[in-house]
Amino acid sequence: MNNDDKEELIKRVVRGEVSLHQIDNEVRDANDAVEIRRRALEKLAGTSLQSIGSAEIDYSAIKGKNAENVIGMTSVPTGSVGPIKINGGFFSGETFVPLATTEGALIASISRGIKAINLSGGSTVRIIEDGMTRGPVFTFNSVVDAERFTNEWLPRSFEKLRQAAEGTSKHGKLKSIKPTVRGNNVFLRFKYKTGDAMGMNMATVATEAACSCIEENFKGARLVAVSGNFCSDKKQSLVNALEGRGKTVVAEAVITDEVLRSVFKATAEQVHDVNYKKNWIGSATAGSPTQFNAHFANSIAAIFLATGQDIAQVVESSSGYTITEVRGKDLYVSVTLPSLEVGTVGGGTGLPTQREALSIMKVRGGGDPDGSNAMKLAEIIASTVMAGELNLLCALATRELGKAHQKLGRSKV
Ligand code: NAP
Repeated sequence: MNNDDKEELIKRVVRGEVSLHQIDNEVRDANDAVEIRRRALEKLAGTSLQSIGSAEIDYSAIKGKNAENVIGMTSVPTGSVGPIKINGGFFSGETFVPLATTEGALIASISRGIKAINLSGGSTVRIIEDGMTRGPVFTFNSVVDAERFTNEWLPRSFEKLRQAAEGTSKHGKLKSIKPTVRGNNVFLRFKYKTGDAMGMNMATVATEAACSCIEENFKGARLVAVSGNFCSDKKQSLVNALEGRGKTVVAEAVITDEVLRSVFKATAEQVHDVNYKKNWIGSATAGSPTQFNAHFANSIAAIFLATGQDIAQVVESSSGYTITEVRGKDLYVSVTLPSLEVGTVGGGTGLPTQREALSIMKVRGGGDPDGSNAMKLAEIIASTVMAGELNLLCALATRELGKAHQKLGRSKV
């Protein structure tokens, strides 16, 4: 598209004759469309969008996949911590971990936690459960039909529903369907193995096929919505915390007295006391349903952003429990993340900076065997989360938190 044509189209957008999304119908080249939309918006909003437009990226890779009405890219400072030593069921060895954040002190604080974990032999981590869920809601005329569907039809129809669901994907494998009845409504929680993908699109498409099969084969079943909030996607919920969603991961370490004193100037008793009173009594008092931790969300959001995960899933991915024990003078620390939703293919994981971030940890793309890269990523994230928890608990125990943020998060410009 030549410059005159671009200028003319920008004028039409500014005059309101062409909407921002209609630019895609007028311009074939995705990169031209982004430029025109951005320049039109600059005029409409009366502001320069030079920085948003400065990324060097081929926007045709984003069109139809990651975002609509694109005007450019948002950049976020990205740092790295580690290497962290991990003894996992899938990942064993050391790795640097990329973190994208604007919170000064976060990366430094996780780094200090990693130092202590490494000096104590590393993070031991296991994945307890793996499965992405979709929870459609069906309605029936009466509870009589709802009960017959739930207790008679559903148990003998699993194979039929599995075939319908799995017909939509190579990697999606239906593990279970758990029904819950409320009045004349039935919520079905479909759970899938999704290979290296986080699996939300995969599970949705597969569940839609299974829902059609239900409506065709059980007279009186009406699908209200393929997502009935019993999934539960992008919401805090007890069902995710109890039954797992995505990866359920536990990481643990024993931090010796010597390491606690040399790295943090803290004792196991002090740290355990803060954990019990803050993360357990405090969270219970605040009425937190599933977040008995100090700041899982910090590490998770930063890694999600850097690696192209669905950032809104930080909501349930940051559910979890920090558990400590005093063992002699040493500190046992563990983090349990019941619903960590991550993938290394699909979604935003294929974008340029996100791919590079995944490459730092050698988990880019599909794993061998299938699913192993996503499992490794989950183990790395849980270990990093534990480092963040350990450091924050120690900083609180030794009253250093404000000082650290003052130094690293508020330097004058
Ligand atoms: P996806 O990109 O939609 O699906 C993954 C794709 O990768 C599939 O086509 C799959 O093929 C293919 N694939 C190739 N190698 C694979 C491997 N080793 N493991 C797994 N899949 C492999 O990604 P998704 O994880 O299912 O969905 C993530 C996206 O869903 C994100 O963009 C997120 O924001 C969005 N999302 C959607 C909803 C929704 O309701 N639809 C809700 C929340 C978020 P096969 O299918 O043939 O196996």
